[in-house]
Amino acid sequence: MSIDARPAGPQADTAESAPLTGGCLCGAVRYELAVPVSAIVACYCADCRRATGTAASINARVPASAFRLVRGATRVFARAADSGRLLERHFCADCGSPILTRHGDDTRQIILKVGSLDRQEGMALAASIWTASAAPWAWVDRDQPCFPAGRPAPGSTAAPGRA
Ligand SMILES: [Zn+2]
Ligand SMILES: [Zn+2]
Repeated sequence: MSIDARPAGPQADTAESAPLTGGCLCGAVRYELAVPVSAIVACYCADCRRATGTAASINARVPASAFRLVRGATRVFARAADSGRLLERHFCADCGSPILTRHGDDTRQIILKVGSLDRQEGMALAASIWTASAAPWAWVDRDQPCFPAGRPAPGSTAAPGRA
């Protein structure tokens, strides 16, 4: 399926204008992301551990308007997070790869699973959250801010914990 195919040409694929691309392991789900990824956060909560089968989920918040599925569709599993807010986990129904999560009450942004991007060059972890829930074998980057639970609300004066 071809949606809004970009015009081919010498300028079409410059680093600045080309969207980031990503998708699942089997290729059934593919997406484009129109903004750079920054502020990458590792979430060590118990739900992310179980949903990924590994130590943490590596996430980046991006505007929902910048994300566009170009192939397939995600399947959704929704469950209340520790915050009480409904969290939708979007994944490939064929291979199970996590693609993104989003809060059911927030249509403005999505939380992209950074590992689903095709290219990882130049990306770095900015913080870790829910480190108090990390598995004993989990490796946590203590050189970055670590929050024992969720991130403090914007404007909060709470300093990052070093749990
Ligand atoms: Zn897949
Ligand atoms: Zn989590």
